[in-house]
Amino acid sequence: MEVIREPAAMADWASERRNQVIGLVPTMGFLHDGHASLMRLIRSQVDHLVVSVYVNPLQFGPQEDLDRYPRDAMGDAHTCEGAGADVLFMPSNLYPSGFKTSVSVHGLVDGLCGATRPGHFDGVTTVVARLFHLVGCRIAVFGEKDYQQLMVIRQMVRDLGMPVRIVPGPLVRDADGLALSSRNTYLSASERQRALSLHRALFAMRHSSEREVTTLLSMGRATIDADRIDYLEIVDAVSLEPLSVLDRPARALVAAMYGTTRLIDNVAMGPELRWT
Ligand code: AMP
Repeated sequence: MEVIREPAAMADWASERRNQVIGLVPTMGFLHDGHASLMRLIRSQVDHLVVSVYVNPLQFGPQEDLDRYPRDAMGDAHTCEGAGADVLFMPSNLYPSGFKTSVSVHGLVDGLCGATRPGHFDGVTTVVARLFHLVGCRIAVFGEKDYQQLMVIRQMVRDLGMPVRIVPGPLVRDADGLALSSRNTYLSASERQRALSLHRALFAMRHSSEREVTTLLSMGRATIDADRIDYLEIVDAVSLEPLSVLDRPARALVAAMYGTTRLIDNVAMGPELRWT
């Protein structure tokens, strides 16, 4: 596996392989099995698999955890190598000096995490657009763990006609059901125990025969043990608009605080969504 640290070197590497299929797994590092599952998902579909590790300052708010975001360059290299990556792209800075461009998707970013993290998704779409250009990927995989992000990226690619196929990667959980996340490392033992209520609430809603969303949400709220719930919603699986009745493919999503740690989780509800 090759490690590339400069954006210009990444672009040169990609242009030498213009006629081959390059796949990209964008990450912020501190990799776990959820990230590795995304690599394995597209490994056989591509000639070259690139994993990027970059803690993107543009997607962090002023009060968020940019400075303390966990890092483990050696561990990340080991995980990428084990999952069959050809290149680990690990720039210390991804943007040229004087960078002035922003990519924004409207509407889809207004609710859910967009409401509590203003500007977050503009940072995500901007970094992903730049990564797509530098890496020259034809396939990129994004985890359903960040469901709103996945749908925002899918919209950006459609709207701008980017020649990249977006593949959704199933959410990977720990044995006890907690969604794997780099941020789980911040949790104390008791916070981690209480955080198990998130997936329990989501799966209780998923397995209920109730179709009225307000009833389902009250059931979910009663199960969650958190210091603060940022949101618990059931939305249309594509438009991300809130639903009142579960009559189409939907998603139940939650964001909650444990001390200073913000966790998110989600689960599919209602009829299955056909991914296009
Ligand atoms: P992050 O490093 O947190 O920015 O995540 C990088 C990619 O890995 C995103 O597409 C995430 O949705 C995905 N990811 C993170 N955690 C998981 C998980 N538990 N299961 C599946 N994909 C995940």
